[in-house]
Amino acid sequence: MTDYPVPSYTLGERPFGVIARYREYLPLKPDTPAVTLGEGDTPLVPALWLSQELGCRVFLKYEAANPTGSFKDRGMTMAITKAVEDGATAVICASTGNTSASAAAYAARAGLRCVVLIPEGKIAMGKLSQALMHGAVAIAIDGNFDLALEFVKDISERRAITLVNSLNPYRIEGQKTSAFEIVDRLGDAPAMLSIPVGNAGNITSYWKGFREYKDSGNAQRLPVVWGFQAAGANPLVRGEVVKNPETVATAIRIGNPARGDEALAAARDSGGVIRDVTDAEILAAQRLLAQKEGVFCEPASAASVAGLLKYGSKGLPKGDTLVAVLTGHGLKDPQTAIEQSQPILHCRADLEAVEETIANAG
Ligand SMILES: *Cc1c(COP(=O)(O)O)cnc(C)c1O
Repeated sequence: MTDYPVPSYTLGERPFGVIARYREYLPLKPDTPAVTLGEGDTPLVPALWLSQELGCRVFLKYEAANPTGSFKDRGMTMAITKAVEDGATAVICASTGNTSASAAAYAARAGLRCVVLIPEGKIAMGKLSQALMHGAVAIAIDGNFDLALEFVKDISERRAITLVNSLNPYRIEGQKTSAFEIVDRLGDAPAMLSIPVGNAGNITSYWKGFREYKDSGNAQRLPVVWGFQAAGANPLVRGEVVKNPETVATAIRIGNPARGDEALAAARDSGGVIRDVTDAEILAAQRLLAQKEGVFCEPASAASVAGLLKYGSKGLPKGDTLVAVLTGHGLKDPQTAIEQSQPILHCRADLEAVEETIANAG
C-alpha cells in the first residue's frame, strides 16, 4: 500500500474521472479519494455512413477511448476505490482480457496486488501485454472464462482478496456512468441502444444508468435495448448454458453469463431483445466501422453494429437517435485485424518500382 500523501491538484474545471463527475450517483463515502486514471467522458461519434444505411441518427459511444482501451475502466475505478476504502490489499479477477488489463492498471495505481485468471491461448495480445506490464500475477488455465470465474469466486470467498469481476456491484455502479454521459450529451436517452453481451454486466449497467437518470429527472424516456451475442457463445439466445463457447470475439466468449437474468430483463423491460451474430458478420462490421467511419474497435464491440445491420430491417427507430456501444479498442487484438485485411505489398527500394506498385494497387 502507498502511505505517502496523495497530492491534491485540480485540472481546471473539468472533473477528472467518472467518480469526480458523477459522485452524487455513486455509493461512496464523501471523503473517499478516487483511484482514477481519468476514465469516462468518451466520444459520442456521429456515424455518417451507418446513419444513411439504417435511416437513424446513429452515434458510436467509443469506449476504446478509456485509459486502458475499454469500458472496463469505468467499473474498475469504482471497484478499486471501494477495495481501498474497505482496506483490501489484493484483488483478483477472471478475464477474457480487458478486465485483467483494467484491474492490473488500477491496482498498480492503488498499490494493490493483482491476480488475474485467463483462458489459455484465448486472450488477445494487446490485453495480455497490459496485464503483464502493469505487474499483475497472470495465471492461464486450460479452461474457459466460465471456469476461471468459478475459481476466482471460490478463492475470494475464502481468502482476503477482493473479487473485481462484474459480480462486484461497484463495477455495475461505475459502468452505469456511460448511460449518464450519453443522456448529458444528447439531452435525453436515445430511442435505442445497441450493445454486445458477454458476461452481461455492461448491459445491466446501462439499463440501471438510464433508469436512474430518468428517475432523477435528467431524461424523459428510456431506450429500447438490443443486445448481441456471438453465435458460438449465445446462451441468452438459446436459453441454456453453452459448454464450449467459441468466437473470434474473445471478449464475449462466455457460455454462462453471471448476469444473464438481468440482461434478459433489461431487453424485455425496455421492449428490446437479445439476438446473435456470426463471426463473419462481426468481422464484416468491424471492417465497415474501420473503413467507412474511421473507427477501429475490437471484434466483440463490432457485434453491436453487426446486429443492427443484420436485424435492422425491422424495429429500428427511423429518424430518431440510436447509440451503438463500441466497448473496446481495435488495437487490443492486432492479429485479428491483420489476418482479415489486404496483405502488405512488398517492393524493392526503388522509386519507379514503388510508383508502379501504387499504380497497380486497387
Ligand atoms: C467485457 C467486454 C464485453 C462484454 O461485456 P459484459 O459486461 O461482459 O457483457 C464486450 N466487449 C468488450 C470489448 C469487453 O471488454
